[in-house]
Order: sequence, then structure tokens, then C-alpha cells
Amino acid sequence: MGKVNSYFTRFLPLIFLLNSTCLPVSSSSALAAWSLKSNGVLELRTKKNAYLKAYYQKANQLYGDRFWVDFKGELLNPRTIKGNGPVKEIRLGKPISGITRLVIEFAPQKSINPYQLKLIGVDENKWKIKLTSFPLNSFRTMKEGNVSKTSVSFPKKQELRSLRDIDLRIADLPNIKRNKYSVVIDPGHGGPDSGAVGIDGLKETDIVLDVSKIVTKLLQEKGISVKMTRNKEVDVDLSPRVALANKINSDIFVSIHANASRGKKRNINGIETFYYSGWKGRLLAEKIQKEILKVSPGSPDRGVRRGRYFVIKKTNMPAVLAEIGFVTGRLDARRLEKKIHRRRVAFAIAKGILEYFKRVG
Ligand SMILES: [Zn+2]
Repeated sequence: MGKVNSYFTRFLPLIFLLNSTCLPVSSSSALAAWSLKSNGVLELRTKKNAYLKAYYQKANQLYGDRFWVDFKGELLNPRTIKGNGPVKEIRLGKPISGITRLVIEFAPQKSINPYQLKLIGVDENKWKIKLTSFPLNSFRTMKEGNVSKTSVSFPKKQELRSLRDIDLRIADLPNIKRNKYSVVIDPGHGGPDSGAVGIDGLKETDIVLDVSKIVTKLLQEKGISVKMTRNKEVDVDLSPRVALANKINSDIFVSIHANASRGKKRNINGIETFYYSGWKGRLLAEKIQKEILKVSPGSPDRGVRRGRYFVIKKTNMPAVLAEIGFVTGRLDARRLEKKIHRRRVAFAIAKGILEYFKRVG
């Protein structure tokens, strides 16, 4: 259970970072009643015209598939209801102030198909999600309150937003003074030097190039001048990477890598960020590490550490080398191979960089 809690704590900021809205702290929950019926239909009754958001997350090594719905307003008493059949448990929580979250967590090995999930508004205060992935009556009805209390006909539809579809909006990244900063982004390896090769031939060079391109684009949209040490699959030696940054005297240098464990151990996963010296380098590493962890739930925090890598040692400016996960690790590799995760990591790195500039000025 401890693990579940820490997982949630770390995972939450992603969602709320991406959908931050200011809510009155004192408002009571918009969720009035719910019922998950044995025919697989989850029904919700809310305040009128409530604003709901639903999310899905695929199982990982530690947890089964889950989806959750967020409502405005706070619950008085967060609680967990033990499930049955394929449903492990249902939790009603207060992930942050002003929000109520209803989580349906499935037992390990029971997976749901997120593409078949739709959150449908059937009335101005009633909602429905059908879980089609289980045989009928494979679990007993669970409920709290009466979902079918008064309603007026007022159809409304809202698609289920799965985590994989979640907007990663530039507007959600912090703003800094435009046309002031310059950054060099260094996608590790390249071309014949594929870097680490992991599960199913997953290549470090491909992953880090994709992430680096997105980081570059995001920072440029925030008014930062960005240069990449390579923008295609070519092998670039280490010294020209350093020389580029030193020549243009960028404010910072960020090298992006993916890790591999000796012996390709699948149970070794995690995020780590290195700096070589100085408080600014350390601060930059801390900001980036923190953000990558938020989008990599369950992946261990291997910490911010000093490292003597050539590219961060020889550059004249605050410089970091981020290892965004293990291509040899089961958990990390499964994520790194997905475009959406690489986008999330890119957003995380961009956010870390922007936070750093905000702080350093
Ligand atoms: Zn590398």
C-alpha cells in the first residue's frame, strides 16, 4: 500500500500540471453518487453541468490497469472500497485540494481496452462509462448513494481522455522572458553509434533524438534560442558537441541519454541526472530530474549526481546529462518505445529548463 501511495503522489503532478485550473478550496465534491454494476456500467451522478475528466493508465510491474475520473470539489472522507472479480478496488480520494478523484483499479493481469472506454453524459447530472472488457457478471455491483435521483433530459457527450491522449500544451509550461536565453540540446550518440540497445532492439539514439527534437521545439516556442548538436542520425564526436556550446556561449547545455544496465537486467529501471560542477549545474539537474520522475511513475529515482562525462565536464556553462530511463529495463523500455511517453519526457525536460531559468533569472 505504501507503494501505491507514493506512486500516486508522484504521478499526480503530471495530470494537474497539464490541466491546472484554480478551484475554490472550499467547494464540496461535484460527485454525488456512483455505481459500478455487474454488467460493467459505471454510472455517476454529479452536480448539474459538472466538469469531469477521465483518465486511463495501463498496468505496469506494480499495478493493474486503472482509470479514474476527476471532479471539482473536495470529498469529506477519502476512502477505499474493496472490489471483487476483476476489480481490485475503488478509491475515492482528494489528490489535491479542490478535486475529488474516483479511481477504479483492476486486478493485475486484468486489462481493459482504453479505446472502448467512453465517458458519456446522459443527462445534465448523469454520466456513464461502459467497461466492455469483462464478461457479464464477472463482478458484483458496488455503489454509494443513489445515482438515479432526479434528472432532466439534457444529453451531453464527452470523450474519455486517456493519459495517452492527454494534451501536452505549451501554454501549461512556465513562461520566461523571451529572446533572452540560449540552450544547447545534445541528443546522445547518433548514426552508427546507437548508444545503448535494449529490449526488442530499442535504440538509445532514436529515443534521445526524438525527445531532443521535441524539447527544442518547445523551448523555441517559449522564446529561447536553441541549437542541437545533431538533428539526425549521424555520429558526432564528443568534442564538436562541446565546441558548439562553448562557441555560442549558450546559457546551459543539456545532454539527453537513455541508460542500459550491465547484463541487460530487466529489473533495473530508473531516472538519473548528472552535473559536473557548480550550484547552477546542480540546480538544473535537480529541476530536470524532478520533472522526468513525475512523468515516469514507478521508475526509481536514481538521483542527481556528479558525473565526469566529457560533454558536461568540458562545457563552460552549467551542463547536465539526463538519463531518461533504461532501454534494458522492462518498465522503462515499455514506455520509452512509445511516442507519447517520449513527448511527456520532452515536456518534463523543457519544464525543468524553464523552471531553472525562472529561478536563476
Ligand atoms: Zn548514452
